[in-house]
Amino acid sequence: MRVLIGGGSGFVGRELTRQLRQKGHEVTVISRQPGPGKITWGELESSGLPPCDGAVNLAGENLMNPLRWWNESYKKDLFSSRIDTTKSLAQAITASPSPPRSWVLVSGVACYKPSLTAQYTEDSEWTPFDLLSKLVKEWEASALLPENVSKTTKQVVIRPGAVLGRDGGAMKQMLLPFWFGLGGTLGSGRQPFPWIHVSDLAGIIAHALEPPADTDAPSPSPQVFNGVAPALNTNYEFTKELGRVMRRPTIFPVPGFVMNGLMGSERAIVLTQGQKVIPKRTQEAGFQYEYPDLNSALKEIVGS
Ligand code: NDP
Repeated sequence: MRVLIGGGSGFVGRELTRQLRQKGHEVTVISRQPGPGKITWGELESSGLPPCDGAVNLAGENLMNPLRWWNESYKKDLFSSRIDTTKSLAQAITASPSPPRSWVLVSGVACYKPSLTAQYTEDSEWTPFDLLSKLVKEWEASALLPENVSKTTKQVVIRPGAVLGRDGGAMKQMLLPFWFGLGGTLGSGRQPFPWIHVSDLAGIIAHALEPPADTDAPSPSPQVFNGVAPALNTNYEFTKELGRVMRRPTIFPVPGFVMNGLMGSERAIVLTQGQKVIPKRTQEAGFQYEYPDLNSALKEIVGS
């Protein structure tokens, strides 16, 4: 299979590329920078979609960029980096004389309203309630293919929780303070913390990239999969397990108002509040998790 990965140079994209190449698939990355095995977004727009059997978009300005202050320009970049790249890919797929058999967008669980009690599956209804849920709405809408194209191209949306891995995402910023014994719960610690190991997320994406079976009925709307581990954990459980695995104390809680001040409340919400997200359809589809619980995921990350 030939796979085109928008934003494939990033944290999730590198793991996806590794898994796909290991299985003998060919990968081309779409990037802002030219380079071997890459095309640029400008080339996609000017030359159209290169031949591919599956396409996925992972591009987006990092939501947790510690070097960027939470302001209007950053928020604009969060939206445009996701929506413009997704639109470019969807348009290139639509215009292609031989569109791929699958088109996968990786968005996020921020569409589900944070709650200590509600449980969300892929079937849960939701309407935007804050900045990040509005982002998910516009992002997913920008991926939609016209009905005639959706007859041949399977559309999939994967909504991951916090992606855990050593080389990126939240863990990269957390390991150092935890190592120095400065780790602690965030906010109340009671909030749900939906998470997934990067290797499992890449596995779910690779699964979604498989062409549809001839018996599958074409659907004008995308199939949605929650990209989270089946274990439901709170921030307290995550913090204590990370401390145990690293053999470090976790006695320095960070109050919610400090997080809001440091990160901006619209962004801090992903850490100080959370949702219980169930990967119902992901499991029904038969996906086998390599890291279904925190202990196995964190041991792999800390030990590697
Ligand atoms: P990364 O932060 O690693 O970024 C992925 C790629 O996006 C980068 O390698 C870069 O590629 C491209 N990119 C960055 N900024 C911009 C920009 N301003 N404009 C255009 N392209 C840009 O992302 P992850 O791999 O961690 O995540 C992949 C996707 O999954 C993202 O859309 C993210 O929002 C989503 N997600 C991630 C989670 C996580 O915990 N990591 C959680 C939930 C969702 P290049 O420099 O080659 O152009």
